[in-house]
Amino acid sequence: MFLSNRDILELQAFRHDLHRHPEVSGEERETARRIVEAIRPLATASILTGLGGHGVAAVFDAGVPGPTLLIRAELDALPIEEVSAADHRSTVRGKGHLCGHDGHSTILLALATGLSRAPVARGRVVLLWQPAEEDGTGAAAVLADPRFAEIRPDVAYALHNMPGLAFGTVALKSGPVNCASRGMKIRLSGKTAHASQPETGLSPMAAVSQLMPALTALSRGAPPAIDFTLATVTHASLGEQAFGIAPGDAEIWVTLRTLVDDGMADLCATAEDLAAAAARDAGLQLAISYHDIFLHCENAPDAVAHLEAALAAENVPFDEGDLPMRASEDFGRLRSVCPSAMFFLGAGEKHPALHNPDYDYPDELTGIGARVFMSVIRQTLG
Ligand SMILES: [Zn+2]
Ligand SMILES: [Zn+2]
Repeated sequence: MFLSNRDILELQAFRHDLHRHPEVSGEERETARRIVEAIRPLATASILTGLGGHGVAAVFDAGVPGPTLLIRAELDALPIEEVSAADHRSTVRGKGHLCGHDGHSTILLALATGLSRAPVARGRVVLLWQPAEEDGTGAAAVLADPRFAEIRPDVAYALHNMPGLAFGTVALKSGPVNCASRGMKIRLSGKTAHASQPETGLSPMAAVSQLMPALTALSRGAPPAIDFTLATVTHASLGEQAFGIAPGDAEIWVTLRTLVDDGMADLCATAEDLAAAAARDAGLQLAISYHDIFLHCENAPDAVAHLEAALAAENVPFDEGDLPMRASEDFGRLRSVCPSAMFFLGAGEKHPALHNPDYDYPDELTGIGARVFMSVIRQTLG
């Protein structure tokens, strides 16, 4: 193990510090500052800040030609009130690190500590703390940043902790591991009226009540079926909160999921046809927009083989688990640049689920995640 007991305690204190000060997607200024403050004393790294927003990269360059290996963690917390009695609970009302990104960020700090003491023999390691994972914009913004050219990897890795999976065990496989998803906002506009004379207006009420079950009915199958689709209505609104006004406007938000990107265009087209037909039948105006767009996450076989070798070397049990999973992950964007792979590290079968108000990252995972990544780094770069 390349970390001492003292390192582990310092890393835990660092994680608790991040946990106390959660920042949501796109607002991770303080979190990025804390990370830079922690890695700056590690003189062997050069540091890039402000990548795609508040992203931070630490580059460990051997000075000898070789591949560039990137490991990604996320900076952002969630707009959810944490329910916790822990000393390190969130100090920010309505915000919490309830996905464990504070822990993933700490694993990268552990790697930075190890790499500064024992540099790689060739090539480069890029540790990337990526902003705005939760809304699906961060990875794309980092890739679009002109300075991404300075850290362009030949292979990229990431992990996510996974409640429901036995503690300290890993789920990993080649191919799709996370679904593609996107939020579809359907806006229907008619005309308000006095509630005593609704016939003089144009209410979207019937269209909304027809569309919500029709959209939901687009769901079929389950992963790993290649034609898996899931449509989840997440929000709907109709008119004003008033008894005197017949509604003139409505909005339906629906999250669309497919196993792979290829299926998404078809699902969107079908959902748009349903909305267009409902609007046309009722004489309503229709506007559709898309948000929180996640590509599916596809593990490259070569990168998976490296992870499997590392897991075996570190005696971490692994199998394919329940992959691919329905949830999305914007690490999927990295595959447009290089082969990539992500593994899922068990947080315990009974552990509160991600995004639950009582979720907290288990600190004991930091050493395990760091050992696996360091083993991959040494295999590839010495
Ligand atoms: Zn999350
Ligand atoms: Zn997450």
